[in-house]
Amino acid sequence: MAAPTGQPMNLIRDAAADFEAAGIDAPRLCAEMLLAHALDITRTQLYVLPREPICPEAADRFSAMVALRLTREPIQHIIGQTEFWSLTIKCDRRALVPRPETEHCVEAVLARIQDMESPLVIDLCTGSGCIAVAVAHSCPAAKVIATDISPEALSLTAENVRFHDLVGRIELLHGDLTEPIWAPPLAGQVDIVVSNPPYVTDAEMADLQAEVRDHDPHLALAGGTDGLDIYRRLFVDVPRILRPKGWMVLELGDGQSAAIRALAAETGWAVEEMILDGNRIERTCVVRRTGDG
Ligand code: GLN
Repeated sequence: MAAPTGQPMNLIRDAAADFEAAGIDAPRLCAEMLLAHALDITRTQLYVLPREPICPEAADRFSAMVALRLTREPIQHIIGQTEFWSLTIKCDRRALVPRPETEHCVEAVLARIQDMESPLVIDLCTGSGCIAVAVAHSCPAAKVIATDISPEALSLTAENVRFHDLVGRIELLHGDLTEPIWAPPLAGQVDIVVSNPPYVTDAEMADLQAEVRDHDPHLALAGGTDGLDIYRRLFVDVPRILRPKGWMVLELGDGQSAAIRALAAETGWAVEEMILDGNRIERTCVVRRTGDG
């Protein structure tokens, strides 16, 4: 006898088939995540549910979320959160969805500040605040300042800071890149600057996945003709706020590492480390000031 409609495994199967037909990545995983969210349980718990229809309210929530996903709304926006550095980070249209490769920025920062007494870390273009939250959470001695030009993004950062009980450990400043840090006493005191700035080239913008192109803020993605507009400013402006021999940790776009090495050399920085991501792309660059102290 066919299982009754509305029972969990059938809901998952049907939604996964619709996602697959629509060309959506990881269709089964996506269906499971949405059903688990609609029922407020974990994905594992789905598999021990009775083979009975789920309650009508949860079924309605699930079909509304499936319909949204079919419009290419990112799953992280639909469920309102993602995992980054094993932490829950709230996300929505206000900022870029945190990506796993950005965890390399956190690693690179932590490796350099772990033995410092009270390191001062600045996260520029913080967006959701994922880097700032992960660093502050993992290094209780660190003081973190996070900046963003987008007030909407900063309102999301603030939610993540509160969610992780890091108010007082992370200060949020609104403004353009290093500008909010120029005034003494911060200028010249910063141990390390970290940033995942917008780096997508104008040509690449059109080819992004619909989830990214239509649902992540363009301000967080678009880096100009060659994607390097913000990097040119960072390499010149960050020395104003950094202490002598301080570091800067930057996420890069695919294929940008040669240009970044050249830019670093031209502006008085030494490349200390270039970290490969899971696809063996030079993704994270650590540079250090040369010649000043
Ligand atoms: N990695 C992001 C993407 O292309 C871009 C992030 C960024 O511009 N910093 O999906």
